[in-house]
Amino acid sequence: MNAKPHEHDGTSSAATIDWHSIRAQFPVLERRVHGKPLVYLDSANTGQKPQAVIDAVSTFSAHHNANVSRAVHALGGEATEAYEAARTTLARFLSVRRDELVLCSGTTFALNLVAFSWALPRLKPGDAIVLTRMEHHANIVPWQLVAERTGAVIKVAELTPEGELDLDGLWRLLTPEVQLLAFAHVSNVLGTVNPVREICREAAKRGIVTVVDGSQAVPHRPVDIAALGCDFYAFTGHKMCGPTGTGGLWGRRELLAQMPPFLGGGEMIREVRFEGTVFNDPPMRFEAGTPNIAGQIGLGAAAEWLSALGMTNVEAREQQLLDDATAALLTVPGLRIFGSAREKAAVISFAIEGVHAHDLATLLDLEGIAVRSGQHCAHPLMQWFGVSATCRASFAFYNTPAEVDALVAALHKVRQLLV
Ligand code: PMP
Repeated sequence: MNAKPHEHDGTSSAATIDWHSIRAQFPVLERRVHGKPLVYLDSANTGQKPQAVIDAVSTFSAHHNANVSRAVHALGGEATEAYEAARTTLARFLSVRRDELVLCSGTTFALNLVAFSWALPRLKPGDAIVLTRMEHHANIVPWQLVAERTGAVIKVAELTPEGELDLDGLWRLLTPEVQLLAFAHVSNVLGTVNPVREICREAAKRGIVTVVDGSQAVPHRPVDIAALGCDFYAFTGHKMCGPTGTGGLWGRRELLAQMPPFLGGGEMIREVRFEGTVFNDPPMRFEAGTPNIAGQIGLGAAAEWLSALGMTNVEAREQQLLDDATAALLTVPGLRIFGSAREKAAVISFAIEGVHAHDLATLLDLEGIAVRSGQHCAHPLMQWFGVSATCRASFAFYNTPAEVDALVAALHKVRQLLV
């Protein structure tokens, strides 16, 4: 399988990598939209896929397709081996043990799994869950569902005007009633990178379980989950060059071992009798039914491909694009950027005075430029900023400085039409 992005092996520096040849491995980026070359600036929404990932999925479907962990025939063995190899690759990519890595459809599933299997059986009236103002709905709504059923309350850690977490405020919220703290590693709207280690250390001192939403971190920077000190870490495959409907949940073994299943069905059992069922050990206990076999194999290929490219190179490249784009966007009259954290990933939410975000995004689309507009699944954050919508340009390593120029030129043009 061709999983190598180039002749390097992750040891090259961002400055020496031929980023054009990396980009050339993403077929969709060759497209034209409305007669213009596609400028894809929506990677925080979903990322594009290199040929190696597309090939991994289609090779499996064309040559090895069978169900996993069930059949003794040759294809069944090949499918199981490839699926478990993907788990091993992902575990290595994230520096965790493979038997602590539950494969699932992505962050939304992973966070619901923690909510319903860890929190629901434990929380009681008077307990508290702490979230932050910058959370995606996927890291809010499952906790609300659990709070409603258990009588626990939700408390919210607020932000500084720059869009960083107000850490002193957060520490004050961590009172003895708090059982769980769930927060994003990187904000999908502001790009803020949260100090995960420090937060997890403070929570652990108080016996609070930490759940980190890594959706926007894993695709863009090296993530060593073991070093973070959290208890659960959720991630999603489709933002990290993998197929949609893939991802996983890492959980501490002691915690996973105590958790009842989330969904019941095949694979998650050891023995079923009508009188009662003996459940499998983690991670299988949480993988009921036929999984997204081809997809997770594709995700394993994505992790291999990204490792060969080197996540520090990815981070450095995107940081450069962020710095250039931020400076250039601020030349557009009336443009406001939401979020100026000291540590920030390559996500820029912005608005232009007097222009609706959807009109802006629609006109940018006519120029071939894909940005997201709306509330970015973060209503409470938008309410805090007092805006109904923003545009968001989100970058990946496959974007180019020329695309930053194209965005800024288009914004100047579109603004003149709309203001
Ligand atoms: N959390 C964050 C911070 C996200 O950006 C996203 C995806 N937009 C999610 C959670 C949900 O991810 P998924 O829909 O892949 O489960």
